[in-house]
Amino acid sequence: MAFPTETVYGLGANALDAAAVAEIFSAKGRPADNPLIMHIADRAQLEGLVTVPDRAEMLLARFWPGPLTLLMPRTEKVPDIVTAGLETVAVRMPSHPVALALLRACGVPVAAPSANRSGKPSPTTAEHVLRDMDGRIPLILDGGACSVGVESTVLDLCHGKPCILRPGGVTREMLTEVLGEVEVAGSVLRPLGKNEVARSPGMRYRHYAPEGSITLVTGAEGDVIRALRLLASDDRSTCILCFSEHMEALRDCRPHDLGSMHRPEETAARLFAILRRLDDEGMTRIYSEALDTGGVGLAVMNRLGRAAAFRSIAASDVLSDPICESQSDRRSSHA
Ligand code: AMP
Ligand code: MG
Repeated sequence: MAFPTETVYGLGANALDAAAVAEIFSAKGRPADNPLIMHIADRAQLEGLVTVPDRAEMLLARFWPGPLTLLMPRTEKVPDIVTAGLETVAVRMPSHPVALALLRACGVPVAAPSANRSGKPSPTTAEHVLRDMDGRIPLILDGGACSVGVESTVLDLCHGKPCILRPGGVTREMLTEVLGEVEVAGSVLRPLGKNEVARSPGMRYRHYAPEGSITLVTGAEGDVIRALRLLASDDRSTCILCFSEHMEALRDCRPHDLGSMHRPEETAARLFAILRRLDDEGMTRIYSEALDTGGVGLAVMNRLGRAAAFRSIAASDVLSDPICESQSDRRSSHA
């Protein structure tokens, strides 16, 4: 069944029942080598399943329940299908009251990935889940829109220095306050290299991608606004994503409102709904402003960057040679 959490909607099954977990993979069309997160309502539910790393204790006290997932060495009681055969299992205690009530009622850890079809943006409303999963799953618990809007932070404490494999609502800055030093996996803000091994298997896959091609436009605020105006031609299937502060200046360019440039939490909460809307509207070319990567901005730029296949252009280049830029960009995006 699908259920709300503070991050995105999850698609859950008894984590200790391999056959039930297998149904999650088939309903989503998820590759079997992409492991799931085990959700709990209570520390006691981890008994006999994992070893909680010492360094995790302070983090659990501070950030659970909440959008922080920790990798933990697991015992053989956790089925291989949950972890894709890895020696660690990802564990999280969500803070959404409906998720906690459900997990308590289940009385077992619940393995749950996001409740979207594989490759689609994660669902942040019950309606998104219905559109992806109608006829494929028996039940959706509707808890309204998710407050965080991007998936949990995945932190690896098991292999050397603490490393963020996936940024989320618990930020690097918040983790650094507790742990001192926290690395960010290289592939968070760039594509995975050809021979590079993904520390988080999910990073291998195309993700969060709308049907149209997104290009990030970077540079000084005024330049970006001018470049976006140039790029959003009269083509009705071209649109832009911009901050609330720039909606008025770009009102003729079919703008979608990313929220305030000073509150990345706002952008996180609405990003996936916007990506889904672009498909509904049949947009084929989308130009977007980029966020500062501080705080939740890192999680937003990871999702938006991947949605854009990390394509970006400098506003100053567009302004110096708009025709050439927009054409070369057009060629590269169709490659
Ligand atoms: P999702 O279920 O869609 O939120 O994705 C879960 C994410 O956690 C994926 O990107 C996985 O690759 C990552 N993950 C889950 N378990 C592990 C693990 N044991 N080691 C590394 N990454 C993991
Ligand atoms: Mg997912």
